[in-house]
Amino acid sequence: MELYSTLLRTVEPLVTLNPNRVSMFVCGPTVYDYSHLGHARTYVVFDVLAKYLRWTGKEVFYLQNITDVDDKIINRANAENVSQHDLSRRFEIEYLRDMRALGVDSVSYYARATTHIPEIINQVERLISRGAAYVTEGGVYFNVGTFEHNGELSHQHGTDRVSRITDETKQNSLDFALWKLGEFGEYTWDSPWGRGRPGWHIEDTAISEKYFGQQYDIHGGGLDLIFPHHEAEIAQMESLEGKHPMVRYWLHTGFLTVKGEKMSKSLGNFITIRDALKTWNKDVLRYFILLSHYSSPLQATDEGLDNAARALEHIRAVAQKDTGENPEGRKAFTDAMESDLNTPNALAAIQTLAASGDILALKEFGEILGINFLRETSAPLSILQEIRAELRANKQFAVADMIRERMVAAGITITDAPL
Ligand SMILES: [Zn+2]
Repeated sequence: MELYSTLLRTVEPLVTLNPNRVSMFVCGPTVYDYSHLGHARTYVVFDVLAKYLRWTGKEVFYLQNITDVDDKIINRANAENVSQHDLSRRFEIEYLRDMRALGVDSVSYYARATTHIPEIINQVERLISRGAAYVTEGGVYFNVGTFEHNGELSHQHGTDRVSRITDETKQNSLDFALWKLGEFGEYTWDSPWGRGRPGWHIEDTAISEKYFGQQYDIHGGGLDLIFPHHEAEIAQMESLEGKHPMVRYWLHTGFLTVKGEKMSKSLGNFITIRDALKTWNKDVLRYFILLSHYSSPLQATDEGLDNAARALEHIRAVAQKDTGENPEGRKAFTDAMESDLNTPNALAAIQTLAASGDILALKEFGEILGINFLRETSAPLSILQEIRAELRANKQFAVADMIRERMVAAGITITDAPL
């Protein structure tokens, strides 16, 4: 398989540290609110990558962190007068529920920041003893000037870069916090430097070092994380013992945009995953996401989603009779997947396979993409539809809606005739 690495700036054959195993880390959510379609895109893409690699026979350890200590969590917990623990656990559960609803089920392990505080403190201590970090009144900072490969991932150096953090106690404006000193409510821990809490970047490297060691194969995340987050991760990990590169294959998903702007919490132009799932089922959402290459920008529009729904319905309509293997169609599918996870071409191959009646391939490849390309058997469906019609006629809308929601969640599209 070939993958484009942001670090190498080229498409390269995937050569893993251990030939049969792939260690993959993807930045997880900060659990302070519901996830939106931008998040859905990133997690569906890496879900497909993990599933494809497993299908090729590789053993994949897919690790994701859960950021459950953060300013946003503190602010919202204070605003709602609940504990940081209750707020972050609540949205962690909601996140995992959304992922299940999207068919994202390939993550081997979710690691919370708050359950890795000893590992974080230990890593900060080692960075200080190596001379890569220093202690101030405000906290512990990474000294960017000590790191020779600085800027290698974002391909930006020195004055091109703008630091968002302003703290008087830092030596250099680009230095970033490893440990913040102070009292931050219940999520404050003792450390050799005083009570405080970890910075954001250090949680990822403390967690990935624990499960993978200092070098592993694939690191993924959204495009907006390259700088400063991923640069900081590289600086931290590679400063421990100088092992370089920490990761060869850095994969970044393009933005999901709404009217030309990135979908984000701060712009307020987001659609939550659960709201989207009320209109389009997970098969349609995944089909829509995979119709674009993961690294391209993707515009979210009702029209685009409706088109995806129609295209998927068309595949299901043509894929009726099993007429046996279509080796060419199968090869087109795997060739596309091998070529930097080219899912638009893979979906084109799916159309060929549907038209030629290779039902087995549709089943098998459907599992990789997490999309059901085949029609459900219709008997139980029409029974449910009849019951719903009866309920609606008797104005028992709550129960009728519940059945519809469950059917939509199961990947079945429902259209009600007006009453
Ligand atoms: Zn991260």
